[in-house]
Amino acid sequence: MSDVLPQYIGGERVAAPPADQSLNPSNTADVVARVPRGGAAEVEAAVAAARAAFPAWSEASPEVRADVLDRAGDLILQRREQIGRLLSREEGKTLPEGIGETVRAGRIFKYFAGEALRRHGQNLDSVRPGVEIQTYRQAVGVFGLITPWNFPIAIPAWKTAPALAFGNTVVLKPAGPTPATAAAMAEILWEAGAPPGVFNMIFGPGSMGAKLVEHPGVDGISFTGSQSVGAGVAEAAVRRQARVQLEMGGKNPLVVLDDADLDRAVMVALDGSFYATGQRCTASSRIIVTDAIHDRFVAALAQKVAALRVGDALDPQTQMGPAVSEAQMQVSYDYIDIARAEGGRIVTGGGRLELPNPGWYVQPTLIADTAKDMRINCEEVFGPVASTVRVRDYDEALAVANDGDFGLSAGIVTTSLKYARDFQRRAKAGMVMVNLPTAGVDYHVPFGGTKKSSYGAREQGFAAVEFYTQTKTAYSWA
Ligand code: NAD
Repeated sequence: MSDVLPQYIGGERVAAPPADQSLNPSNTADVVARVPRGGAAEVEAAVAAARAAFPAWSEASPEVRADVLDRAGDLILQRREQIGRLLSREEGKTLPEGIGETVRAGRIFKYFAGEALRRHGQNLDSVRPGVEIQTYRQAVGVFGLITPWNFPIAIPAWKTAPALAFGNTVVLKPAGPTPATAAAMAEILWEAGAPPGVFNMIFGPGSMGAKLVEHPGVDGISFTGSQSVGAGVAEAAVRRQARVQLEMGGKNPLVVLDDADLDRAVMVALDGSFYATGQRCTASSRIIVTDAIHDRFVAALAQKVAALRVGDALDPQTQMGPAVSEAQMQVSYDYIDIARAEGGRIVTGGGRLELPNPGWYVQPTLIADTAKDMRINCEEVFGPVASTVRVRDYDEALAVANDGDFGLSAGIVTTSLKYARDFQRRAKAGMVMVNLPTAGVDYHVPFGGTKKSSYGAREQGFAAVEFYTQTKTAYSWA
């Protein structure tokens, strides 16, 4: 039986009796972690600790902040195997994917260690002679960070690192299914020397996240999760004029044109739709294929999908792990049934998957002959389920790709420079991929979407300074 994980409040590891647990989705007999369930008192204590720590941290030399973040990055990278294994055991992505995500988290901390030293302002001449103007970027205060389970260390890292780099303090509420992975990051920040109260982490259900959003001592909220929850978070934050940033779902299109290299198109679709069990907000779940390549593409992709080795995330033979939870597994099965009932043709998968381990396995499923308005093409599944839509030509492909409520990532596979450039300009998405999977992004550049996928300033890389600082304009005459 696992130990009970502590919460991190005011520089203390706070112990409490367990109330919730995370299970290994590859083998549900394995309890990964037991955690206490915080409530109003923990939110109160964590926000108070973060507020108390803010003046000293925001006024500290940027070198102090850079050193803490750099040490945290080094420790994460040193423990990539150990944390990656824990992540795969708790979330269900394969071990290479778990280690890859851990390395990314380490790199993010090291990138923002540099950014702490690069926060800059401007000097401008005033329109009034003798007057000078300076702009400063200053820390905002306390940030509440609310994260999902599908990138259980990378997303906490890409919110925590910029918040701390620019002098803010933090209360993190990680997702219920993956507390142990978030705790590994919390422990490392503690070891890296984050002063008491600068970083706090509390466990609890969605209602605890709501308390954080409503707390008057929290100056800003960065939320990643589902669209339905995000809309309520924004409403509550805006009501009290807190700054807010949301990263939410996707229904990301991948366009395959007649002139595409077939092998490349299949590789791009396989990776984008099925790797990480399709549990990526940037997963390609709608594959829009022009007529002349359609049948060859669907046949070739189906062959690869059927050959995917699904199994225990920690087994080196496994290419696709389980869904994170029973509920998430059920969502995939529900949407397969819905698509079938709406007239979709199951080309491969679609059935239950029983393996020797008791786990939440889903057969990777490809559904062809779907129409653009079917629910399978409008609603996020967040599982290893992709559908294809047959279109006449590029113009129709672009129109279908731009349909719908979401606009996170969009991809095209083509050898035509003309169509590639046109798609880059006209796809209604925050990120556009040419001959690359819709999922898989770098950590030093902006991340985010359009329409209902995102709200507020972009996350990550050099864009993060917008959300985690506020600008002051100073005038002087001497
Ligand atoms: P979720 O919305 O159920 O939960 C996200 C977080 O919000 C969790 O920590 C949860 O406890 C908390 N929460 C729940 N109710 C709340 C409330 N009323 N107030 C405040 N917080 C609350 O999402 P999930 O199932 O954990 O994650 C899957 C979703 O995340 C998918 O929709 C996926 O597309 C999205 N996602 C988006 C991105 C992105 O960057 N765009 C990245 C990863 C995942």
